Amino acid sequence: MSRTLRTPDDLLAQGLVSPEALPDLHALSARYAISVTPAVQARIATPDDPVARQYIPSAAELTTHPHELDDPTADAPFTPIKGVVRRYPDRALLKPLLACPVYCRFCFRREHVGPDGGLLTEAELEAALAWFAENTDIREAILTGGDPLMLSPRRLGHMLDRLEALPHIELLRIHTRVPVADPARLNPAMLATLRRDKPLYLCVHANHAQEFGLEATTALRALSDQGVTLLGQSVLLARVNDSVEALETLFRTMLRHRIKPYYLHALDPAPGTAHFAVPDDQALTLLRDLRPRITGLAWPNFVRESPQGAGKKPLGPAWTL
Ligand SMILES: *Cc1c(COP(=O)(O)O)cnc(C)c1O
Ligand code: SF4
Repeated sequence: MSRTLRTPDDLLAQGLVSPEALPDLHALSARYAISVTPAVQARIATPDDPVARQYIPSAAELTTHPHELDDPTADAPFTPIKGVVRRYPDRALLKPLLACPVYCRFCFRREHVGPDGGLLTEAELEAALAWFAENTDIREAILTGGDPLMLSPRRLGHMLDRLEALPHIELLRIHTRVPVADPARLNPAMLATLRRDKPLYLCVHANHAQEFGLEATTALRALSDQGVTLLGQSVLLARVNDSVEALETLFRTMLRHRIKPYYLHALDPAPGTAHFAVPDDQALTLLRDLRPRITGLAWPNFVRESPQGAGKKPLGPAWTL
């Protein structure tokens, strides 16, 4: 059985990078975490396929551009208290930790996420929960990070219990990559933790149909069977899913897993990610060609995050009748 790969040498030993790439990758790994779980390794067919490209670091990440930003979605100015981001009147993010099961090479929070990352202390968590209790106009608590399903079921359950107990909180939402990247975490204890009285929306990050293995299918079925509403969020990525066929297959695969595609994000300009960017005109043409080919149920909102922090803006395409 394979284990999680965390260093350039681990990747070399599995034949996922070449020996010539090692010096660059050592430099890179000092700055950005690497993690390729056994579940993801099982989905990689070749070292440059659409799954591998999302997780295997490349020297291209060393190239940064002046327009790239450490905080491309401008979370910092909208942080009233550590671990909370509030941009909207009715909903706010809680970021209990900054660790993830995998580290996506295009991550918009790549300057902040990592394995040692940002677990709120007990006092910080209490303060963040007190903020949710005091701000009675917030109706929806959105757990993100990092990946909230990296917490132990007990710890996550404690947070969800506290939020759910607030009378003004009507909805719980969790953004996660765990169902495809580390489905073994959705064990019976975690499933029990995600059984809630108030509606729980689980927004599953996946960018290619090839990411869905049998374990993911089983975990998603269990979630759906216990009343969790599944949403999909994807990023439009060059050489990963920038074709009509790839998007069509991705969104159909999500629907077969009872996941409603919710957002397709334009790439946020985090440092060293320009090789993943799809030009806007190409993106809009792709989506225009895609629309008639898929059921409306498969259609996500195509959005870009405002760099000034004004939130997600729909990008189109525009239609002529
Ligand atoms: C993305 C985001 C949300 C969720 O927005 P929806 O459009 O409701 O999915 C909420 N708060 C912040 C700060 C966000 O960045
Ligand atoms: S799972 Fe999300 S937060 Fe974590 S590295 Fe990937 S994109 Fe970033």
